[in-house]
Amino acid sequence: MDLHYPAEAEALRARVRAFLDARLPPSWSGLGALPRAEAEAFVERWRQVLYEHGLLGVSWPKEYGGAGLTPMEQVVLVEELARRGVPAMAPNDTFSIKMVGNTLVKWGTEAQKRHLLPRILSGEDRWCQGYSEPGAGSDLAGLSTRAVMDGDEWVLDGQKVWTSLAREANWMFALARTDATAPKHRGITFLLVPMDQPGVMVRPIRMLSGESEFNEVFLTGARTAAENVVGPVNGGWAVAQTLLGHERGEEAATNPVLFRAELDRLVALARSNGRICHPVVRDRLAACYARVEIMRFLGYRILTGVLRSGALGPEASIAKLYWSEYHRDVTRLALDVLGADAQLVEGRLPLRAYRADDPGAPNSTASWVGAFYNAVAGTIYAGTSEVQRNILAETVLGLPREPRPA
Ligand SMILES: Cc1cc2nc3c(=O)[nH]c(=O)nc-3n(C[C@H](O)[C@H](O)[C@H](O)COP(=O)(O)OP(=O)(O)OC[C@H]3O[C@@H](n4cnc5c(N)ncnc54)[C@H](O)[C@@H]3O)c2cc1C
Repeated sequence: MDLHYPAEAEALRARVRAFLDARLPPSWSGLGALPRAEAEAFVERWRQVLYEHGLLGVSWPKEYGGAGLTPMEQVVLVEELARRGVPAMAPNDTFSIKMVGNTLVKWGTEAQKRHLLPRILSGEDRWCQGYSEPGAGSDLAGLSTRAVMDGDEWVLDGQKVWTSLAREANWMFALARTDATAPKHRGITFLLVPMDQPGVMVRPIRMLSGESEFNEVFLTGARTAAENVVGPVNGGWAVAQTLLGHERGEEAATNPVLFRAELDRLVALARSNGRICHPVVRDRLAACYARVEIMRFLGYRILTGVLRSGALGPEASIAKLYWSEYHRDVTRLALDVLGADAQLVEGRLPLRAYRADDPGAPNSTASWVGAFYNAVAGTIYAGTSEVQRNILAETVLGLPREPRPA
């Protein structure tokens, strides 16, 4: 493993640093330092700045609005943005750029790529993910939302659940059963469905943290044009897997930057309230430090694999399992470091329900308790820890497949 970046990646790093110096105020100490409303407004403005400078969807080909950068250059860009405490995209872009956009680059028709990818980058279209259903989460292929052709349109009936940011989206990518007679993985189609229509109803779900980031989505005779299929009809399972690879593994090389900054903040907290002197706290902090370092090297290994093969393989599951369980443990430790103070939730809650609070966030109880709630969710979304272990056991280690009901 060569731990040095190539010269062209370092040249890009210098350009990104100069760009950030020019764009951010001298007093900038990270998004987390802004009050919540200001931070939300900043994210929207910042996304526009990134867009205008061609810094969104950077690995996409230029003819679809991307910058044609290599995966290595993309990592360097995201690393530098994370180091300066600015986001690499807006919240919906997790679904728009990272998931459906990247999937369209691989599976989309020429017309889909030319029409949809630039609209994703400009922010004209915002996407949400219609995978999970009340009866299909880990067993995603057991989904029962149906789609049938009616003239030149698909008509969808069913229910999706846990649909994050559905109220902010004007499109949903959804999996639907299009052949009820085929084996369950073979009768599924990947469809693109407009949200703004009478057949789509969105109902928010209130979470433990008090936020309502995710929703139920009811599809009752919802319609979409025949051409809004990605990949083959009844062949949506392979498309769905490509998307899950991006969902699980995209940030493998850059996550450790954020987690390291978060851990430094926890050490500072333990120093300030004296818990650092407790031997068990010291041991647990040291273990977390080692795990972030392992995550960093794991990230390099995954990146090297992507550079060599051009694709994210089952390593995406290793990354997802590793960071989510680390984060659950470190935030649990944070609550122990806070002690009884953790019961008084004061300050600004994290802006997003995903991963670490933003760099620069105050060392408040609200930040850590919020991060703890979200960290529990991290071991569930994008496939639970048990599901990742099954994937790794079966596809990487070649262990016997777990028994499945007939
Ligand atoms: C914050 C958050 C955001 C989300 N956003 C979205 C979204 O935008 N769109 C979307 O489609 N979904 C979303 N989800 C849903 C998520 O993908 C599912 O929650 C997840 O796939 C698990 O499914 P489930 O909740 O139905 O649990 P189940 O599948 O019912 O699992 C229950 C428990 O059983 C275990 N289990 C299940 N099968 C096995 C097995 N074979 N072996 C061992 N253990 C097993 C699981 O690990 C889990 O502990 C989100 C979830 C969260 C928490």
